[in-house]
Amino acid sequence: MNAPDGPGFDTEIAALADEVEPRVLAWRRDFHQHPELGNREFRTSKIVADHLKSLGFDAVHEKVAHTGVVGILKGGRPGPVVALRADMDALPVAEEVDLPFKSTVKTEWSGMQCGVMHACGHDAHTAILMGVAEVLAEIRERIPGTVKFIFQPAEEGAPDDEGGGARMMIDAGCMENPKVGAIFGLHVTSNHHTGKLGYRSGPLMASSDELRVFVRGVQTHGAMPWRGIDPIVVGSQIVMGLQTIVSRSLELTKEPSVVTVGVFHGGVRDNIIPDEVKMEGTIRTFDEGQREAIHGHVKRISEMIAAAGGAKARVDIKRGYDVVVNDPALTAFAVPVLERVAGKDNVGVVDKVCGAEDFAFFQKVVPGFFLRVGCRPVDRDLRSAAPNHSPRFYVDEGCLKLGVRSLCALSLDWLARA
Ligand SMILES: [Zn+2]
Ligand SMILES: [Zn+2]
Repeated sequence: MNAPDGPGFDTEIAALADEVEPRVLAWRRDFHQHPELGNREFRTSKIVADHLKSLGFDAVHEKVAHTGVVGILKGGRPGPVVALRADMDALPVAEEVDLPFKSTVKTEWSGMQCGVMHACGHDAHTAILMGVAEVLAEIRERIPGTVKFIFQPAEEGAPDDEGGGARMMIDAGCMENPKVGAIFGLHVTSNHHTGKLGYRSGPLMASSDELRVFVRGVQTHGAMPWRGIDPIVVGSQIVMGLQTIVSRSLELTKEPSVVTVGVFHGGVRDNIIPDEVKMEGTIRTFDEGQREAIHGHVKRISEMIAAAGGAKARVDIKRGYDVVVNDPALTAFAVPVLERVAGKDNVGVVDKVCGAEDFAFFQKVVPGFFLRVGCRPVDRDLRSAAPNHSPRFYVDEGCLKLGVRSLCALSLDWLARA
């Protein structure tokens, strides 16, 4: 074997992926049974770090951005640096899937007791990347460049008052020393069958911002509304007003977007009009300009409607994750590689996803490509498959090896061509 590029190298990767598959399955099951919430991935990250050290990595940095691990594998030949990223955190969800390695873990989250489950499949991502580490370590002498393995905590968000996730990893310098030239990551999804890979050039996943509106009225007896200002009626008008942003103000043909009010709190009993109403919601967009425009509309509509009713509205918008944008040139590079790995018929363009991913922040630093990996059993239709974050979310483990082969091929091919 000469250069680690092209179909010639694929055979070797496929064989090594076969070899490592039982261990990838075992890691995944172990993580699944022992899920940990964001910034609390102590056990998971220790297993990851020990594994990378056992493979003879050149460096293994631990406790990066709380519990993150960054491993550096230098190839035997000179070349650029490519990064591969996996997220390690689980969710406050009580598992309902009947598995021998079902999670029964319970913990406290925001002051409440809850179950913990890998309901987004990050157990699969971590196990896949550990498998990739083992395969690439095996052939390191022939790798023309360096592979950086980024195991990231808290993709689903850090506990209150703690930073975390991709942003914090970047601030901690994970994209420097050595400087990364491109980054690849993947996510399992029950939207697609096992064996399928989905991609999209440009915007793939939405930005996600948190919106809060406080409407201040004047408390009064429920039987005498004229003696006060009713924030519930004003708040209701604001909820309706917000519906006009996407339908009336945005250029719908450009990108989709969503404004949802998910919380509406006000009042304590039937015969009291309260002083204040609090609303919370989420804003999803695929375009920075539209994101800014929506923020402006939310503020203006809330404040003006409140003023019209004699009330006052205060709007807080907390910027969350940016849009996951797959670099078009990198996507054009990646598609034929994936077609080689999975078969041409198994690789296709997927619809945009209104969920968010902090992989977006890595893509702000260097060109990045985020891949969707089908994990729905082939005999199950979409309607009967629970989505990510459901207590019934199920990962068909047949997808793991394909994940390993995809990341191996993407990184090796990118290094060979760079
Ligand atoms: Zn998730
Ligand atoms: Zn996820």
